[in-house]
Order: sequence, then structure tokens, then C-alpha cells
Amino acid sequence: MIGGWIGLKIDPDLLRNLAAGRAIALVSGTNGKTTTTRFTAAALGVLGPVATNSFGANMPTGHTSALAKAGATPFAVLEVDEHYLARVIDETTPRVVALLNLSRDQLDRAKEVAMMAQMWRTALAAHPDIHVVANADDPMVVWAAINTANVVWFSAGQRWHDDSFVCPECGSPIERANGEWWCTGCPLRRPQAQWTVEDEGVLDPKGDWHLVKLQLPGQVNLGNAATALAVAAEFGVRPIEAVPRLAGVASVAGRYAQVERDGRNIRLLLAKNPASWLEAFDMAEVAPTLLSINARDPDGFDTSWLYDVDFSPLRGRQVLITGDRAYDLAVRLEVNDVAFRHVTTFDEAVRASPPGRLEVIANYTAFQDIRAELDRVN
Ligand SMILES: [Zn+2]
Repeated sequence: MIGGWIGLKIDPDLLRNLAAGRAIALVSGTNGKTTTTRFTAAALGVLGPVATNSFGANMPTGHTSALAKAGATPFAVLEVDEHYLARVIDETTPRVVALLNLSRDQLDRAKEVAMMAQMWRTALAAHPDIHVVANADDPMVVWAAINTANVVWFSAGQRWHDDSFVCPECGSPIERANGEWWCTGCPLRRPQAQWTVEDEGVLDPKGDWHLVKLQLPGQVNLGNAATALAVAAEFGVRPIEAVPRLAGVASVAGRYAQVERDGRNIRLLLAKNPASWLEAFDMAEVAPTLLSINARDPDGFDTSWLYDVDFSPLRGRQVLITGDRAYDLAVRLEVNDVAFRHVTTFDEAVRASPPGRLEVIANYTAFQDIRAELDRVN
């Protein structure tokens, strides 16, 4: 990022110049963008070399440095922080923009969800040539993308509904049933999705079903895979060519990595906001679980979001807690009726759990701390 920062100070048009001549896909949303970017880059690899910021440096400095390092490539897939999407669209003139989801994130820094949807909507209105690949299950995303001329809808599900209870168009309540949603006060409703997850695979717009075997766990990642296939198809990549490449992704910057230590199979799951905690609980096995919470700058300083997360799926499991803000978590678990034990180090957590699977769910810097303990596992 430092290289990109210096480069942009010297030449404010550097990102624009580095992007010129490449066919680019941007991937944005509150959750899942790092994994979806990795999947999309793998899928586009069918066509030739792809530049990508695969380690989550998702602001213009990170994009500049990723493109500079990659040299001349015909393609680029860039993960974009949702606040920067409008600017990065202006500077990189992407062919495709993928919009995954919008939900509350770090309370002291992130924009309110409806404001973010409005920013996206305005940005897309200024670039009618862009092909948008958007999540039909998220009303905020649909509202942001609905007026675009070229839009392909995918269905990746939406577990977290608390940020789209009311219609972004008219403020009336949104109702949901059988995978559909609709506004009770205006015509906004779930569009028909062309790409959907079905059983262990993905159904494409022609109605062909593709078995998708992934190393990454959970329905969430099957949804991310469907998104990547939809984006790659906009570049002419057929699912049958792309699917085997998705199976090659084993972990993404340490996320989902599995490490053996002292007879424990430790798996790392990153969860950084309420929606992603729900996803982590969905992916985690019923096994001893270590939760670690920090509240440093990259995490956001406000931990009140802990009360937005329902920790009850952890009842009955052995739960260990650690991290700078373990006591905040302790109070939350107490209120949520989840039994736990506080440990002060990662080693203590490993010793406290029986041999076998240990699931580790941590927020951003807590995750990095544990990853460092495990020798910067990728
Ligand atoms: Zn409405």
C-alpha cells in the first residue's frame, strides 16, 4: 500500500493510467469481497494473466500497487472498499462491477447502509456502460442497481435482514417469504435471479447445473462461487472452464486455513461485523470454539455491535474467549446464556480444548494476532 500511496502522491492519475487497456472487474460489498475476488481472479485466469489485490488492500492505494506490481495484464479483478467504489469506477472504467451485499459494519467508521446504497446508485447512474452483477436477495443492493441498463442478478442468499427491514425507495416495510422479498408500499421487489445456488452447485442462466466442489466451507462460499462464475461469464468464461479453478482456492489470506498443532486441527474463520458472525456460525462445525475480539483501529473502537449478534448457536459447545475485549464479549455471552471460559493466550486455548477440531472465530486484528501465532499461515 505504501508504494501505491507514494505513487498517487507523485502522479494522481497513476491508477487511471495503470488501469488503462485492461478489462477490469470490481468486487464490492460489506462481506465476502476478498473471497469472491479470489474466486473471480481464479475463474478469469482461464483467459490469461489477471492482476488482483488478493490480500484485502482494497482502497485506491492498494489497487495502484497491485496493478503496478502485476505489470501489463489483459485482465484485473479488484476488491473495492464499498466507500471507494464510486471513485474507483471513475478511475478504472471497469467492464463489470459485482455488488455483493450491504450491512452494518464498524460503527465508528462505516457509512449508514442506506447512504451507501445511494452512493452506489449514483455512481452506477453515471456509468451506464458498466455490466453490473448484483445480489437479488439484498434489497439495498437491488435498489442500488435496479436502474442500470446491463444487470445480471445472482442469488447468494441473505442471512442478515436487520439492515433491510424497510424499503430504500419509499420507507415501507419489506416482507419476506420463500426466498422472495417485496416492498409493501411500492413496486420494488426481488428480481428473478439468473445465477442461483442449488444443492451443491450453481445453476446458470441457461438452466445448466454445475457441481461446485470447494475447499472453502459453507453455503456462503457457494454463493461467492456463484457470483464469481457470473462475473467471469461477463468476460466470456464458461462455467465448465471456471469451476475446476474455484476448487483450487484453499484459503484466502489465512481465512479458512487449517493448521495442525498438538493434535488439534485449528481452523481460522474471520468475522468482523454482525452479518459475517452469522455466516461464521453457519460454517463452523459443532466443536470447541475460540472467540477472540479486539477493538483496535482496523476493527472499529465500538464493540456494541456484539449485541446485534445472536451467539445462541454456540450454546452447548465448549466456548473459549480471548482478545483485548474479551470482557465485553463475556458480558454479551452471559446475557445470551452461552457458557464460556476466558483464556489469556492462544496456547492456553489450545491446551484447554480436547484433541480434534478447534474452530477459531475472530475479528480483524484478533485474527491477525492468531495468524501470527501460527506463523503467518496463508
Ligand atoms: Zn418501497
